[in-house]
Amino acid sequence: MSTQNQSKDNGQTSKMGIGGLLKKLLPFVLPYRWLLAITLTLTFLGATMSQVNAIVLDKAVDAINDLMHSGGFAWSKAAQLLLVVSAVLLGKELLAAFITFGQRLFGEKIRINVSRDLSLRVVKRILSFRMSFFSAEGNEPGKLQTRIDRGVMSLSNTVKNFFIDILPLFTSAILALVLMFAANVYVGLVALAIIPIYFVITARQGKRMKGWRRNVFGTHQALNHGIMNIIESIGVIKSFNREQVEDDRQAALQEQSTDQQMHTRRISFLFEGLKSFVEQIGTVLIIILTAYLVLTDYPGMTIGKIMYHVLLFNNVSAPIRQLHRIYDDLNDALIYAEGFFGILEADHEVECSGSYRPESVKGDFALRHVDFTYANGTHAIRDLTMDIAAGKTTALVGLSGAGKSTIVNLLDKFYTPDSGTITLDGVPLQDWDTQTLRENIGMVLQKNHIFSGTIEENIRYGNPQATFEEVEHAARQAYIYDQIMALPDGFQSQALQLSGGQQQRIAIARMFLKNPPIIFLDEPTASLDAIATEQIKAAIDAIKQGRTVIVISHNIGQIIDSDHLYVLETGHVVQQGHPAELYHEGGLYKQIFDASARSMNVDKIAQELS
Ligand code: ADP
Repeated sequence: MSTQNQSKDNGQTSKMGIGGLLKKLLPFVLPYRWLLAITLTLTFLGATMSQVNAIVLDKAVDAINDLMHSGGFAWSKAAQLLLVVSAVLLGKELLAAFITFGQRLFGEKIRINVSRDLSLRVVKRILSFRMSFFSAEGNEPGKLQTRIDRGVMSLSNTVKNFFIDILPLFTSAILALVLMFAANVYVGLVALAIIPIYFVITARQGKRMKGWRRNVFGTHQALNHGIMNIIESIGVIKSFNREQVEDDRQAALQEQSTDQQMHTRRISFLFEGLKSFVEQIGTVLIIILTAYLVLTDYPGMTIGKIMYHVLLFNNVSAPIRQLHRIYDDLNDALIYAEGFFGILEADHEVECSGSYRPESVKGDFALRHVDFTYANGTHAIRDLTMDIAAGKTTALVGLSGAGKSTIVNLLDKFYTPDSGTITLDGVPLQDWDTQTLRENIGMVLQKNHIFSGTIEENIRYGNPQATFEEVEHAARQAYIYDQIMALPDGFQSQALQLSGGQQQRIAIARMFLKNPPIIFLDEPTASLDAIATEQIKAAIDAIKQGRTVIVISHNIGQIIDSDHLYVLETGHVVQQGHPAELYHEGGLYKQIFDASARSMNVDKIAQELS
């Protein structure tokens, strides 16, 4: 994806200017003001050092000239002169090396610290956002990650460019110009006149390269993506004998990439050549002018001044040679900064919390005329009214997409309804302290997210204070203990290596460890085999006692013994009651029940069992 597309994906166009960018970066740099002050001082010292060669050469040439034409030439005097010149130049180099080291080190320290602070700030922000942020278009994990990675990288590079690269060069250029003007106004003016020509060439180069840089970047991403696709889909590619198709696709992309790279190199070399040429013209002009002034005995213009001005002019043109790279980097930073600061400044996305923190939670939910629409416009819940009784098991039944998981998401305050009210123990959900609410709810979801880490860490996530014995007990309750112990590293094995069904049991163990009064089970046995399903059902039945449980399942066996059942269709309740009574009522529940029984071939099973 090109950088341009990326900024469009974020729904923004590049409006931020360089001033705006620096203003936004300033709060991140300010905490390091002392480091900054040291860096700037060293920068200034370094810039001053850069002028020493010119001054020394000016004096040395004049001294040699005097020595040769004064009539009193002596080798001892020449040796003394050379000794002084060498001592000054070597001393200066030594000092300059220390200064450059310090300046780079402190500059880099600022960059690394700013980069760390930017990352920490963005992680903190993301953790505070409500769920709807993550399901909004453009905020998919991959895109969000690219926005953050690129943002942090290019913003900290801007800091580096500014403090380590540009500032020393520009300070040196300004000092050199001042020295040139002080020595001779005309020479100073010639040096100054070359600068705008450089700027024009650099700006044109930047413009010509911009589109191509994006193309190169886009093709590069496509190539990476293509290779990843091949690795991920290797089974499909091989089973369909499509190796050649994939090979040809990659070859075409590589061809495109080669052309683009060659094209950008050509433009780049052309402009670099042009800039070198202009620089040489500048140097020639300076030599001619200074030589002319020396020959015409212009006051203050000695032969040493020719070298003096040529060397100083070199200091003036040095930063300008770097301009193009810095211009490119800044352009990138402007694009990425939009997406990055878009995340930092999305205050409206921060999750709201009330302050209600009761001593204990009963678990009586009441939903009244609730409507809810996802960010993409899916109207998932319509005029929904239902009661979830404390201490009882309530089942939600309905076809896929009926809105069952959405209800659970609303009850956990992951999303806020568009209209209607939801109360828990008589208190509106928005008045509840969100952390207190979630501490009292345990969830086992369809997709149980196992983190990269050990099995113990994953179970302990349910209660970080739990002892290892408690972790083991939870694993036993979830019927996964024996399987964990059979692994070479036991509880220290990587959880992501477990099978889908094992991971689900880890998630159930995590919920057992949390031991909350309210439990939401969304297809808790979806990826388990029959034996494991039976074990888990027994375990869940055991902890159901005295807790408020909401269970969503396509497995009739798991909902048939609930206390109350809601049948949902397109986001609202179409039937409710006790499972046994509902079946005799007919309607959608009976249809689902019968279809489920048929799909399980219940008649045949009954025959076998009898
Ligand atoms: P169920 O759990 O009954 O299968 P869901 O509550 O998951 O149904 O989904 C209800 C509707 O909301 C579906 O049309 C689904 O596509 C949509 N939906 C679910 N999650 C999201 C989401 N994060 N963003 C947008 N739409 C969603």
